[in-house]
Amino acid sequence: MATLYLVSTPIGNLGDFSQRAIETLKNVQFIACEDTRRSSHLFTYFDISLKEKTVTSLFGENERSKIPKILEWLDGGFDVALLSDAGTPLISDPGEKLVEIVLEKNHSVVSIPGPSALISALVVSGLETSQFFFEGFFPRKASERKKRMEFLASLPYTSILYEGPHRVIKTLEELALVCGENRKIAVARELTKIHEEVFRGTIGEAIRQIENPKGEYVLILEKVSVEKASLPEAIELKEIYQKLVKDLDPKEAVEILSKKYGATRRQIYSIVRIK
Ligand code: SAM
Repeated sequence: MATLYLVSTPIGNLGDFSQRAIETLKNVQFIACEDTRRSSHLFTYFDISLKEKTVTSLFGENERSKIPKILEWLDGGFDVALLSDAGTPLISDPGEKLVEIVLEKNHSVVSIPGPSALISALVVSGLETSQFFFEGFFPRKASERKKRMEFLASLPYTSILYEGPHRVIKTLEELALVCGENRKIAVARELTKIHEEVFRGTIGEAIRQIENPKGEYVLILEKVSVEKASLPEAIELKEIYQKLVKDLDPKEAVEILSKKYGATRRQIYSIVRIK
């Protein structure tokens, strides 16, 4: 049984590449990377000789067609390493289908952990880290984006979004419409790089402050904030809701609670739906 290694690579600072990642790449005979040219800089910098190795590309559009070849290598008893351009493979990056099939074929899959932009941004955000939701990139289509934003707006967990420089302001403006300008947000830019920067404040302040966006961004959005003073504890609120739905339909029960406690229906829903 051979092993597919999922090797995390730096998200900027090459000093973050682990010794174990380097050893793994030196030891495997086959490497699949999202962009062979980008990874070649890494191989050169860390003295990983490709002389006796086969390197192939594996990106979103060709992932399925590459799987048979990778299975053939694993079936032949050879270990394979998968890398993406930056960070952890499979996290808003290719590899999910490959891992699913490799496991189905009873090969082992091992993570060589390392940088990932979502965790690096979350821990410096100053927002709640105990429970969080990773959204990745919003869909491009306006109606789907809106749906996803509404979902995040009512989530009782911190949420994490990936964004590029051209859309970051637009995304913040859209989030302001759905979550309100006063919702807290952290905007982490170019993590681990020379121009690393983290903005912490409200969505409105971020829109006013971020000019001429450049580089790569992670947005960390505060969880829905329920008026703690006026709303009872979640457990208590759920109990009241459960009593009400014995006689009323759920919509009416939520309406009553939202009027009683001066909270939005979305806020009430987000609490009563918690398992
Ligand atoms: N697999 C990667 C990971 O584990 O973080 C993410 C790949 S995804 C295609 C690329 C996105 O990650 C970027 O658009 C940006 O949102 C985020 N990202 C990657 N590197 C970053 C960095 N150094 N600083 C801030 N965000 C970064």
